[in-house]
This record gives sequence, C-alpha cells and structure tokens, in this order.
Amino acid sequence: MKIFSRIALAALFAGSVFSGSALAAQQFISIGTGGVTGVYYPTGGAICRLVNKDRKQHGIRCSAESTGGSIYNINTIRTGELEFGVAQSDWQYHAYHGTSKFEDQGAFKKLRAVFSVHPEPVTVIASEGSGIKELTDAKGKRLNIGNPGSGTRGTWEVIEEALGWSRGDLRLAAEMKSAETGQAVCDGKIDAYFWLVGHPSALTQESLATCPSRLVHVRGSAIDKLVADNSFYRKAKIPAGMYNNKEDIDTFGVGATFVSSADVSDEVVYTVVKAVFDNFDDFKKLHPAFGNLTEKEMITESISAPLHPGAVKYYKERGWM
Ligand code: GLU
Repeated sequence: MKIFSRIALAALFAGSVFSGSALAAQQFISIGTGGVTGVYYPTGGAICRLVNKDRKQHGIRCSAESTGGSIYNINTIRTGELEFGVAQSDWQYHAYHGTSKFEDQGAFKKLRAVFSVHPEPVTVIASEGSGIKELTDAKGKRLNIGNPGSGTRGTWEVIEEALGWSRGDLRLAAEMKSAETGQAVCDGKIDAYFWLVGHPSALTQESLATCPSRLVHVRGSAIDKLVADNSFYRKAKIPAGMYNNKEDIDTFGVGATFVSSADVSDEVVYTVVKAVFDNFDDFKKLHPAFGNLTEKEMITESISAPLHPGAVKYYKERGWM
C-alpha cells in the first residue's frame, strides 16, 4: 500500500501519471527522526536537504518525518515503512543482537549502520524549586521518563534498573513526548525531564531560558558500573557555559547513529552517503551539534551493526576503508 502510494506520488511529482520513464526515475525515501525540538529532526532535515539538492540527477526525493524516536525508527525500518532512521547507538546494538528490549522480537539481522552522528549525553533538566541537582535526587519526584518508542525511554529503564529503583520510586513517571517537556517543567507539572540528546539542542536551550531551571549531574557508582559493563556507553560532560551552567555537567551517553536495512538498495544508500560526505562542510553547518564531527569517527564510532554495502562502496572510493 505504502509502496503503491509512493509510486503514484512519484508519478504526480514527475508531472504525469502516464509516463513510464518518470515512474522509473523518481524514488522516495523517508528518514524517521524524533520530536521537532530535538536534534534528530534537524539531522534528518539536513541529510534530506543535501540529497534533494541533486534530485534531478539521481531521482531520489528524501523526506524527514518527526517520530517517537530511536526504537520506533528501528522497528519501522524493520517493517519496511521507513528506509532510514536516526537511532541511539545502544538501541542499534540491542536491535542487531536481539538483546534488552529487542529480546522478544529477536535479532534484527538486516539492520545496517550507515554512519554515526553527534554524541548524545543523558540530559536532565530540573526546575530550581525541585531541589534536584543529581539524578539520584529525583527519587520521590515527578520526572518525565520519555514516550514509549523513544530511545530515551528505553535508556531510562536501563538506568532505573541500574539504580535499583522501581517505577514506584518516582512520585510521577510522566511519558510526554520531548517537545512537551520543557513547558511542563516551567508550568510546574513535573520537576524534571530526562532525555538523551545532542548539544546544543533547541529544547534544552528553551527550557533553561524560559524559567528558573538547571542541568543535573548524572553520576555515581551505578553509572560507573553501567559504563564499564557496556561498550556503547561512555562518560560525557556538558561543558560549562554551553547553556546557563557555570560548571561542567558530569554525565554519560551514547552516540546518535544513522541506520537503514539490508533491504534498501546499495544505490540508494550510496546516493545518500555521497550527498552528506561530498558536502561535508555544508552538512556540519546545518546544526551546531555537528560542529566537532569528523568523517573518520562517523564511520567507525558507535557502530555495532554491519555497515551497509552502499555506504562501504562510497567509503572505499574515498580511501577511508
Ligand atoms: N535520543 C532521543 C530518542 O531516541 C531523541 C533525541 C532527539 O530527538 O534529538 O528518543
């Protein structure tokens, strides 16, 4: 159904439903992202912008969709409704291996990594009045733990277990989408929100600027153990002065990654990868969280599924592999 409607749309865009050559020439791809005030959504937008720039030559039209986040994106790539998605490196790992939240569904062996993008530290923003300065202070408080389907929510559940907490240890475990959480803290509906996001991000900036609120440290022995036990986690800092924080914020995090499926053609993946890396300086300017990215790290770090052969073809051509 979806394929049919895309072909029909492609024909419409080509200007004629009767033209067989136009049908062959146009192809649609969708990238699953996250909430509109996060970094995944502009990441998908940046990739599509570079792909669409040359669409007359390659015939591929790219669109970025706002979605529930990492786990939704991986599951929707699995059903073939999305060609690409942005996903946290911990969930890329678990999906490919069929572990953690992917144990029931089994390993998604056709999951393919394309490249990794920006780092995503665990980020907690609390109202001044809540008294929360460390994540562990959130015990007994009202915390947004992320909407189902987000990578944020999945990683919260891992942290909750590592801390030895159960859901009842929070007075309220809210499940709002990321775009709603900043306002909820400033309106006093929740004490803090938790998510994994690149920096700087629009929502983090807006929350901290809108009402008395602060970034919270995420550290301690339970976190040290999580990082030591899992290759996809690493210690991180949100540097002093990035927002209203006068000191570095200690935390840990994952990498945002760009993933696809072995069922997506080499040609399509090659075209997308080429659009990004042939225009890498432009890409890096499309979001401030991309400022420190390097090509070498993007094709080696935070990757646990096999690289898609269409991406490998481009990386070999550039002499990177
Ligand atoms: N890491 C978040 C998630 O998968 C999304 C962050 C963003 O939207 O930038 O839930």
